[in-house]
Amino acid sequence: MRTAIVNESERTPNRVNILILSIFHLGAVAALFVFTWKALAAAVFLWWLTGSFGIGVGYHRLLTHRGFKTPKPLEYVMTLCGALAMQGGPIDWVATHRIHHAHTDAPGDPHSPRDGGWWSHFIWVISGTAQDHDKAVLMRYTPDLMKDKFHVALNQLYWLPNVVLGALLLVFGGWSYLLWAVFFRATYGLHATWLVNSATHLWGTRRFATKDDSRNSFWVALLTFGEGWHNNHHAYPTAAKHGLAWYEIDTNWWIIRTLQMLGLATSIKLASLTDGFELEATKTT
Ligand SMILES: [Zn+2]
Ligand SMILES: [Zn+2]
Repeated sequence: MRTAIVNESERTPNRVNILILSIFHLGAVAALFVFTWKALAAAVFLWWLTGSFGIGVGYHRLLTHRGFKTPKPLEYVMTLCGALAMQGGPIDWVATHRIHHAHTDAPGDPHSPRDGGWWSHFIWVISGTAQDHDKAVLMRYTPDLMKDKFHVALNQLYWLPNVVLGALLLVFGGWSYLLWAVFFRATYGLHATWLVNSATHLWGTRRFATKDDSRNSFWVALLTFGEGWHNNHHAYPTAAKHGLAWYEIDTNWWIIRTLQMLGLATSIKLASLTDGFELEATKTT
C-alpha cells in the first residue's frame, strides 16, 4: 500500500462544487430524455470547441506550458472557449496543472492516484478548496497570467459565458439544446479531462522513464483529442505535440499545426528525442 500524499484538511467536502457538479450530472441524465440528432450535433461541436480548442490547446498547451506563441486576441478566444468547458477559470486551472507538474505523484500533487483512483478522478474536485487557490499561490505559480487583466477577469467570471450560451440555446433551440450542448457536453468533457489525471497515471504504456507514474493511453487520447499521450507529455511538458509516433493520434496538435500554416502559431516547442529522458526500455535501474 502506497502512502497517502494529501492531508486530512484537504479531504473535507467542498459543498459548492458538490452542488454544481450534481446539477450538471442531473442535467446530463435529463438530456437522455429529450434526445434529438441536432442537439447531439451541437453538443459534439461544442465538445470539440471547448475540450480541444479551449482546454487542450488553449488552457493546457498554450497557457500552462507556453508550447507555442499566438497573437493575444486568439489567445483570448481560446481561453474563452476553455472557460466554456466549466473546468474553472484559466488562472486557477493553470495553477493547479503547474502544481501537478511540479509535484507529480509526490507530496503536493493535487490529484495523484497514489491517493486513490477516485480521488484523482473527481473527489479532489469536491474536496477542500479544490481549485480555489489563494493569491499567494497564484502569484507563485501563475505570475504571467496574473498580469493580464483579461485572464484575471475571466478567472472570476468563467461561468458567465456558459450562462449566456445556455440562455441562447434555450431561447433559440429549446430544452434539448440546453441539456445536450451545455449539461451533457460539459459533464462528458469533465470526465474526459479527469481521465487524464486518473487513468493516464494508472494504466497504459511508458515510453520514457519519468520519475512519476504517467502513462500513454490510446483510449484516453481518443477521448481528449490527444491529451492521453501523458507519459510523452510528462517527459517533455512544454512540447506542443504530444503524439510522438505516427499512430499516436493527437488532433490538438493538428489544430496547432494548422494555426502554424496560417501564421497564427509561432515559436512552437517540440520534443527533442535525442536529449533529456532515457527510454523506459533502456532504463538500467
Ligand atoms: Zn499528469
Ligand atoms: Zn501539462
